[in-house]
Amino acid sequence: MNLEKIYRDAGAYLEGHFLLSSGKHSQFYLQSAKVLEDPKVAEELASRLAEMIKKSGVQVDTVCAPALGGILAGYELARALGVRFIFAERVEKVMTIRRGFEVQKGEKVLMCEDIITTGGSVLEAASQVEKQGGEVVAFAALANRGFCKRVGNENDAKPTCKLPNDVPFFALGDFEFDVYDEENCPLCVDGSKAFKPGSRGN
Ligand code: ZN
Repeated sequence: MNLEKIYRDAGAYLEGHFLLSSGKHSQFYLQSAKVLEDPKVAEELASRLAEMIKKSGVQVDTVCAPALGGILAGYELARALGVRFIFAERVEKVMTIRRGFEVQKGEKVLMCEDIITTGGSVLEAASQVEKQGGEVVAFAALANRGFCKRVGNENDAKPTCKLPNDVPFFALGDFEFDVYDEENCPLCVDGSKAFKPGSRGN
């Protein structure tokens, strides 16, 4: 499956000078919402991901996603797996499970994102699931930004990956491109200013 082609065809592989949520700068940005705006594509991607997860034998009771980015992918994945879906959201910067969602003691929860870069947000949501007694059995994303080790790819996790290495991470493919600290960003040196994706109509 050519994930890059799917992103490019959907106009979801943006080129420019971006300020990422991690604070790093990048020439590229993946706008998964553009891929998922076609429910048929979303369904297809989620069912492929579900197949990988089922094949691995990991048992899942519930999919949980951090809002906002993970919701569409997580919901479709839950549908494909035939399980329940809940989400976590930031309330005053703290990842929280609310809206009456509950996790039972011992419930097997798969954490889903659209893209996992270092896994920061999804890990914060996972800790909330664990706080309620849930067991985080796997992580999943449409794409791995190449920092973490995923099932089916031999590349080791980079030191910046925050995901635990004893829990499997499933993704349909990898996107590897450079990110920079502001101090040594070549795009900044060229004189342009990084902007947050979404702040200029994209
Ligand atoms: Zn820059």
